[in-house]
Amino acid sequence: MHTNTLAGMLADLSASRYSCRELTQSFLERIAKYDANLNSFITVDEAGALVQAEEQDLLRAKGSHGPLSGIPIAHKDIFCTKGLKTSCGSKMLDNFVAPYDATVVSRLASAGAVVLGKTNMDEFAMGSSNENSFYGPVKNPWDETRVPGGSSGGSAAAMAARMCAAATGTDTGGSIRQPAALSGVTGIKPTYGRVSRFGMIAFASSLDQGGCFAADARGAALMLSAMSGFDPLDSTSSETQVPDYTESLGERLEGLKIGIPTQFFEDGLDERIATPVRQAAKELESQGAYCVEVALPHLSLSVPTYYVVAPAEASSNLSRFDGVRFGHRCDDPKNLNDLYCRSRGEGFGVEVKRRIMTGTYALSAGYYDAYYLKAQKTRQLISQDFENAFSDVDVLLGPTTPTPAFKIGEIVDDPVTMYLNDIFTIAVNLAGLPGMSIPCGFADGLPVGMQLIGNYFSEATLLRVAHQFQLATDWHQKIAPGYA
Ligand code: GLN
Repeated sequence: MHTNTLAGMLADLSASRYSCRELTQSFLERIAKYDANLNSFITVDEAGALVQAEEQDLLRAKGSHGPLSGIPIAHKDIFCTKGLKTSCGSKMLDNFVAPYDATVVSRLASAGAVVLGKTNMDEFAMGSSNENSFYGPVKNPWDETRVPGGSSGGSAAAMAARMCAAATGTDTGGSIRQPAALSGVTGIKPTYGRVSRFGMIAFASSLDQGGCFAADARGAALMLSAMSGFDPLDSTSSETQVPDYTESLGERLEGLKIGIPTQFFEDGLDERIATPVRQAAKELESQGAYCVEVALPHLSLSVPTYYVVAPAEASSNLSRFDGVRFGHRCDDPKNLNDLYCRSRGEGFGVEVKRRIMTGTYALSAGYYDAYYLKAQKTRQLISQDFENAFSDVDVLLGPTTPTPAFKIGEIVDDPVTMYLNDIFTIAVNLAGLPGMSIPCGFADGLPVGMQLIGNYFSEATLLRVAHQFQLATDWHQKIAPGYA
């Protein structure tokens, strides 16, 4: 059952080849078998999942079920789930049980998805390797000495090891696309505002966006159709109509104009990445698309810009964790200041503290103009680059990451090298555009991802290009040895 695609499972459930309960049970068994080693789940809700699956069996029997009825999924532990721990990968929230569901969670529940559990992640979604989690690193199923990527590494690894049919993630600077690439699965981060941020614990509010992982583009389209849409509880969610993303998947690519950003292949991009990505572009050309070079001249400013904007917003967002209202509180505080200092000192990990310090510094009087204001200006230049590119092309294509998965521990003490891992993904968040990563080859046995970037609200185009590519190739069907 687990090697099937999400759409394949829906067809099997409709044909009563197995029940929702049986499907859920089989994923729970895989989690029990593999996850003690991979560490991709923080919480597994076996009892709850079986109850939900049985409910879906009843709804299916009555013929009144939703579009994802009985599909077992996992939620990144950044999405609030009523009655189930939501830790955000932090000691700070290790004791936090949300009193409500995030909109993403409630929408997928009304579509009929069954929640297997909550996945591991970098603390407060800060990281590119999943080594910043209070719950320990996640292992990459393709090579257990390597990282799965981050910050949605638990969701990506759970998907790669087929311990769920799909999973949610969030992407502030690449946290869906980068782990999708390093773990060899399909991942999409939609346009900023497409998916509600209500109940999604905030890291950097102007960049954060929820999305999903699946085995293929059709699965991602089914998930995104259910997750997206205006939410009165999120004032930045968009009122733009949500199409059924599966409807246009079948349209051919004749005449599609693909832009290949020159800057993505400069500075000696690893040939093990460049070659499969160029090959993928050729495959799309053989289907009738055509490629032209485009320039994103300010791309190199994206990482420094992000590392002012994101920590600034984080320092403000994370001030709510004060030991009073949520989460960890130190023992025997002597006074209010001691309560704040020790609760935060004990509750946050090293990377989170580094971001809070940088962000607070960037926002302080006297430095604001030099850093934050300047970063807002360069952000505008980066958006402008994309606007120029999209006046000429339909989609952009390039690598998702500069290298394949690196070793656990290899760069954990070198934050700048770690930050540069997102060099191809971060600009997309600064501009608020949709982006996607799909498997397109291997480098020394490790998955390589290609990135597709679209204009605002062009998720349907990205999914269609990915689907047409996947009809002609089988990279997305490869499962890590030992997990097939
Ligand atoms: N790796 C980036 C960071 O550490 C992006 C993380 C994300 O997208 N959540 O901030």
